[in-house]
Amino acid sequence: MKITMLGTGAALPDPDRGQSAILISLDSGKHYLFDCGEGATRQMVRANVNPADVGVVFLTHLHHDHIGDFPYFVISSWMMNRKGSPVLLGPRGTRNFARHLFEDGAFHTDFAARSAYPLRQANIEAVRPDVREISPGMVYQDDEVKIHALHVDHIPEHICECFGVRFEAEGKVVAFSGDTKPCDAMVELARDADLMIHECTFPESFIAHRAKTGVGIYAHTSPTELGVIAARAGAKSVVATHFGHFDSTSPVLKRAAGHHLPVDLMGPHLMDEVAADIRKNYHGPLRLAHDLMRIDL
Ligand SMILES: [Zn+2]
Repeated sequence: MKITMLGTGAALPDPDRGQSAILISLDSGKHYLFDCGEGATRQMVRANVNPADVGVVFLTHLHHDHIGDFPYFVISSWMMNRKGSPVLLGPRGTRNFARHLFEDGAFHTDFAARSAYPLRQANIEAVRPDVREISPGMVYQDDEVKIHALHVDHIPEHICECFGVRFEAEGKVVAFSGDTKPCDAMVELARDADLMIHECTFPESFIAHRAKTGVGIYAHTSPTELGVIAARAGAKSVVATHFGHFDSTSPVLKRAAGHHLPVDLMGPHLMDEVAADIRKNYHGPLRLAHDLMRIDL
């Protein structure tokens, strides 16, 4: 199988990173998408994958940087001749999210205009996702794939459940954290995984700053903590991703983020600090994700 890191950034617009999206492509030609943040659909095409060929989408949680591209993904897949409904897996609230997008929601006018064409009527199911709100456990299975999901610890559960996943196919295991602070569920999901993809939103030096300013320090995993999780799980290789713009040199980002990020510390050099901190506890193969990074398993 092939894993393509379509988007490796976080919640802000970033000139160098799209928002969270990971595509797993099997040798059989099936594609599974994990999260659908801004830019995911265009990045698929850059990776030579037709969005209409992606049959299953899994949303780890409903923060905008994990779901923002979903309407574009669905509508463009419809226009690119998808057959049948895409399967949409996600937490409680996913049905409501999807229902308010297309024929009964935000893109009603677009739907009405395009569906007037016989050609678009012929595959109208493409714009009617098959939504399945999930509970912890086995959440999806077909003849090639098993997907297990467990709650991770990111947003208070009464607002949104957040899931990590364990994807099994072709005799290989890929685990993905979604967004979370360090949690035992990820150790379980990534147990002996061939690849663990884990969020790594801020380096240690940023976390110290955010603790002082009181902005959202609790909900993510630091590089040092990521290394501990990887070692405990026995992960055979690791990709760190979901970088919170700390490596950016964008003056727009720096000006806008001044109240909650230590912008004077920002820059690509921080990637060295991230790798070194992960390495304190995890000594196997390590990659720091960038957009369109491809991993063959
Ligand atoms: Zn996120």
